[in-house]
Amino acid sequence: MNAFNLTSTLDEWDKKHLYRHRHILESHQGPVIQVDGKHYLNFCSNDYLGLASHPEVIATFQQAANLYGVGGGASHLVVGHHRLHHELEERLAEFTGRPSAVLFSSGYMANMGVITALLGKKDAIFEDRLNHASLLDAGRLSGARFHRYLHCNVNNLQERLLETTARRKMIVTDGVFSMDGNCAPLTELVQLAKQNHAWLMVDDAHGLGVLGETGAGSTEACQLSAEDVPVLMGTLGKALGTMGAFVAGSKALTETLIQFARTYMFTTALPPAVAAATLTSLKLVAQQSWRREKLTALITRFRKAAKASGLSLMPSLTAIQPLLTDKPEAAMAMHQALKSQGILVSAIRPPSVPTNACRLRITLSAAHTEAQVDRLIEALIYAHHHVIQEEVL
Ligand SMILES: *Cc1c(COP(=O)(O)O)cnc(C)c1O
Repeated sequence: MNAFNLTSTLDEWDKKHLYRHRHILESHQGPVIQVDGKHYLNFCSNDYLGLASHPEVIATFQQAANLYGVGGGASHLVVGHHRLHHELEERLAEFTGRPSAVLFSSGYMANMGVITALLGKKDAIFEDRLNHASLLDAGRLSGARFHRYLHCNVNNLQERLLETTARRKMIVTDGVFSMDGNCAPLTELVQLAKQNHAWLMVDDAHGLGVLGETGAGSTEACQLSAEDVPVLMGTLGKALGTMGAFVAGSKALTETLIQFARTYMFTTALPPAVAAATLTSLKLVAQQSWRREKLTALITRFRKAAKASGLSLMPSLTAIQPLLTDKPEAAMAMHQALKSQGILVSAIRPPSVPTNACRLRITLSAAHTEAQVDRLIEALIYAHHHVIQEEVL
């Protein structure tokens, strides 16, 4: 037996319908994309506001690259912390209504950095069981006593909080769950955190830019201050259309991260031009509330038509609109049936979701037209009819 027989592991993975194949994207992000030489309607990106290819965002990026080059060149603590990064941190703090913010090169790294900097062996972490993989990985890496509570279940969380005698306690949740699209019960979590002298961390990767009056995200939508949610994490690669992430909170929090977050210290700073482009995205988010309004209208249109057609959607009011298919085979067959009709939607399978909770993860964007959403519905009905029903019979 060869312990490194990778091929047999891959073969097994393939037999379980879990094998991932990468598409080759040949165009910019947008409602219509070119993939492997063909054009598709795109219902699988996280560019919720259509900013990833916005001409003004691109122009700012180009101008900054002309002035400051492409590479970040060094880590923030050496000589990579550019004036543009600093300006973006100040703007993000202002946007989220927090005293301070610190930039990370990606959301995955922000979560790793903040959780391992704040928690250690003497501490306890309480995570929703459907939290993003980066939050779960960070919790394990921190060495803190790991508690996974039932999805959005505050009673279950309360029971677990009562059990602990840890030095520090931190409750961690997605603001909007990345694979389900539902929102965390933030107001109840804030109460529970306060009662139990725990901190609350919210990962708002899918709420930032989209939720709240000004687009400041889940905490704005629920009117929660920096005292309510001491650790707020947001990403820039989704609704803001660029790349990177940040953690916002008290000055003491961001200083702690600058001193102790290893994924901050030991990595190259984002290109300054990305920070410049993000400043323009933030300006557009603030000025163009029509993007959020249009997205909301498309979500309502989609859900109404889906319900009328008997498609069983999950209870999500956000841009993430999953359609459960149960088994991976069915998710893949639906994906293929949509692809053959010129529509790209991703089939989500383990380890991204639990077994028997496979789904199509449909995502809507303000860049879509009503006609494109209507076409999606028609294609879904056709695919559902030909795949799911035929297989059951
Ligand atoms: C996408 C995502 C991340 C990771 O962010 P990146 O910037 O893509 O690394 C973290 N948390 C959640 C909930 C996400 O959806």
